[in-house]
Amino acid sequence: FLTGKTALITGSTSGIGLAYAKALAAEGANIVINGFGDSAAIESERRNLEKISGAKAIYDGADLTKVDAIEGMMKGAANTFGGVDILINNAGMQHVSPTEDFPVDKWDLIIALNLTAAFHTVRLAIPYMKSKKWGRIIATASAHSLVASPYKSAYVTAKHGLAGFHKTVALELATFGVTANCISPGYVWTPLVEGQIPDTMKARNMTREQVINDVLLAGQPTKQFVTAEQVAAVAINLCRDDASQVTGSNISIDGGWTAG
Ligand code: NAD
Repeated sequence: FLTGKTALITGSTSGIGLAYAKALAAEGANIVINGFGDSAAIESERRNLEKISGAKAIYDGADLTKVDAIEGMMKGAANTFGGVDILINNAGMQHVSPTEDFPVDKWDLIIALNLTAAFHTVRLAIPYMKSKKWGRIIATASAHSLVASPYKSAYVTAKHGLAGFHKTVALELATFGVTANCISPGYVWTPLVEGQIPDTMKARNMTREQVINDVLLAGQPTKQFVTAEQVAAVAINLCRDDASQVTGSNISIDGGWTAG
């Protein structure tokens, strides 16, 4: 149902972003993928997306902590496809450390990538969406946009900010056929989660198994990881015309984490 539409997903060379790209391609959308990684692997994912969609997929390796690179990526999408109909602000990183020891450069990087980059992509996407009287802006926020956990100060701050930003945008675009929503997963098994296990082991003096069961899944009442495909399914539903009245929402997919 998305044939003729273009979706740009930030941070889509891996994890949840790649799952969004595949799900949107399966609905026939043109795709812009973004993120870091091995260039041969990315090229093979790009070709795979074209196979899934029967439409076009391009890759832009913009470093989203740099405003020039974001502007270049949005221009590139406009040059190839005319503009972006579905924007998913998904790129993000984590760093686990007590606040008093939190590296200042890591704080700046996480705020730039997890929060400020979304301001730039959204501000650059709005004029085209307004002109089309249709658009979908979606952010992968997190359960950490609603509640905090210790040792994740920059991430929790950025995710709370992302939720506030998308609510603001939803209000500004409410009469233009453009919705803006956050999807807030609990723990999804991706490289981002796997990567924070060693630091959490150190910060909490725990084994790998203790981190998985007593930290990651401790607050997730279903005691299961969310899958990236389940997160993507929520995004697909937000793209349907039936979802035109879902705007300014922060949709949890967290196994009950934030219910408690
Ligand atoms: P991931 O590490 O698998 O993917 C992150 C993506 O961002 C990759 O494509 C990476 O190349 C890209 N990226 C990193 N730095 C970048 C930069 N400077 N410029 C451009 N791209 C960059 O992580 P994931 O778990 O799939 O996370 C995706 C999003 O989901 C993040 O915003 C994360 O905070 C959020 N999230 C993840 C979980 C989880 O449990 N995995 C839970 C809630 C929210």
